Amino acid sequence: MEGLIDLHIHTTASDGTLTPSMVVSLACQRGLKALAITDHDTVEGNKEAIEEGRQRGFKVIPGVEISCKHPLGEIHLLGYFVDWGSEILQKRLSQLRRYREERNPEIIRKLRGMGIDITYEEVKEVAGGGSIGRPHIAQVLKEKGYVFSNQDAFDRYLKKGAPAYVPKELLPVEEAIQLIKEADGIPVIAHPMQYRTVSTYGIERFIKELTGAGIEGIEVYYSTHSREDTATLLNIASRYGLLVTGGTDFHGEIKPGIEIGVGMGDMKVPYSLLERMEEVYGV
Ligand SMILES: [Zn+2]
Ligand SMILES: [Zn+2]
Repeated sequence: MEGLIDLHIHTTASDGTLTPSMVVSLACQRGLKALAITDHDTVEGNKEAIEEGRQRGFKVIPGVEISCKHPLGEIHLLGYFVDWGSEILQKRLSQLRRYREERNPEIIRKLRGMGIDITYEEVKEVAGGGSIGRPHIAQVLKEKGYVFSNQDAFDRYLKKGAPAYVPKELLPVEEAIQLIKEADGIPVIAHPMQYRTVSTYGIERFIKELTGAGIEGIEVYYSTHSREDTATLLNIASRYGLLVTGGTDFHGEIKPGIEIGVGMGDMKVPYSLLERMEEVYGV
């Protein structure tokens, strides 16, 4: 089939600003031929999107984007064609989300335990209704005169190894790959050029290592990839026998400048990539 697709899209089920049905309707309007819903650590948007797709005769691929742990930092793994009804998958993902929601209150408990007068309410106020992070905690510490600057707050309390540090719970990448496979999904490394590993020891070694761990594809086409990036990744994918995928990482208004289907303007992800995926995995 001819036409263009977008295999990396966020909805209100995670941090996107459009609902799953709005995303499907927008993709239809823009003339795309298929899309995949890849919300962070949740499969909850898939049902609505698939239903909307069915009504419109538009193809929706179920998916997820899992944050996971690599020795050199956080990396993201996409899972395509996952069985979003899978109890194991849903349970594991909800555990991860719950833990993350509890991280900030836990940091504040630690600070209070050190005699610092700070409340979760104060931090929430600084965050202004958005998602709360350590910079907001640092801000409150500064306003209350406990530290000189945000950097000082990180150095003395919040950074890794400091007394109020609480690690982010991330699945080790091998486990995330397993989880996706157990849910009948295809594990693909998301935006591979973005990680610290690449500047540390190069893209090829990174992909080689992940291939050993079980990934089956690379997100070759991506909004911020240069032409060279795309060419490098295409070459690596072909040498390691990996599938090629592509998507914009569309989030709606919250990430301005990234449009569905075209990314920063000129991205083109051909439908044939999806056909290849379906052919290889018989989905
Ligand atoms: Zn990502
Ligand atoms: Zn994403």
